[in-house]
Amino acid sequence: MYRITLFALCIFSGCLNAQYENVSISVDTLTTKTYMLTGRGGNIGIYIGADKVFMIDDQFAPLSEKIKTTISSLTDKPIAYLVNTHMHGDHTGGNSNFNSKTTTLVAQDNVRKRLIERGLKNVSEQKMSQKDYEKSLPEITFSKGMTFFDGEETIMLFHVHNAHTDGDTMVYFVNENVLHMGDTYFAGRYPYIDLNNGGSIDGYIAAHRKVLPIIDEKTQIIPGHGRPSTKSELEAYVKILEDLRSLVQKEIAAGKSLEDVKGNSSLTSKYDSTHGNGYIKPDRMRETIYNSLKK
Ligand SMILES: [Zn+2]
Repeated sequence: MYRITLFALCIFSGCLNAQYENVSISVDTLTTKTYMLTGRGGNIGIYIGADKVFMIDDQFAPLSEKIKTTISSLTDKPIAYLVNTHMHGDHTGGNSNFNSKTTTLVAQDNVRKRLIERGLKNVSEQKMSQKDYEKSLPEITFSKGMTFFDGEETIMLFHVHNAHTDGDTMVYFVNENVLHMGDTYFAGRYPYIDLNNGGSIDGYIAAHRKVLPIIDEKTQIIPGHGRPSTKSELEAYVKILEDLRSLVQKEIAAGKSLEDVKGNSSLTSKYDSTHGNGYIKPDRMRETIYNSLKK
C-alpha cells in the first residue's frame, strides 16, 4: 500500500514530496506565547498574540500542510504576519502556501530582490508556476528595521549587515524575551556563511556583537539550526568564531594560500569535535573564513 502511494507521489510530483513524507514537526514550548517548530530546514518561530499569530520562517513547501496542522494544534487564531529571516529555500520554501488574504509576508529589502531573481529563474525553467512565484514574494519590506506592537508585546525586527547573507533579520520579542536569529546562528555547529549571497565572517561576528548587549541571561534564543540556546552559549560561540578568524588572518598575513589554510586541520582542531560535525565540516569552515577575509 505504501509502495503504491509512494509510486503515485513519484508520478505526480516527481518524487518531490516523498522525501518529506517521514518528516514530523516537533514543538518546543519556550514561553506561554512562543514556540519553536522543528521539521526539516530552518527552525520556525511562533508567537501567539491576543487575536493573531506571528510566524518566522516556513521551511520547505511540501511541509506546509504539516506545519499548518501543528500550528492549529496550538491555536485557532490566524497567522497575520510571516517574516522571512533571509532568502534561503529552507526558510522561505513555504511562502506561497502561507501567503493568503489573512497572512502578509514581511522581509528585508534584499530578501525580496533575491527571491525575485531566483523565482524568475525557476519560472523560466518551469520549476515554479507564475502564480506561486507571485505569492512567494514578501509584500512588505524594510531597510533597517521594523517594530510590531501586539497588546503588551513589542516585536522588533532588525537587519544585520552581510552576516549569513545580505538580507538577514533578527526578530526579538521583548516581553517574552525570545530572540529568533535566523541563520546568523547555527547552535552547536560551524555556521554556513553564504559568501555568494552577501554573507561574510566579519558581518557574522558583528551581528553577534550587536545583539549580545540587547539580551540577558534569561533570553531564549531560537537559532536558524540547532537547539534553543542561552546568551552565554551565544557568547561562547562568537568567541570561537573570533578565534578562528584571527588564526586564519595570521595565516593570510604569513602569505599562506587557500590550499594551505584549507588543508591545515590544526587551525580548527580545538573546536572540531564539538562544532565540526554539522553541515559545514572543518575544512569548509577554514575555506569560508579564508575566502571571506580575502574578499
Ligand atoms: Zn540560510
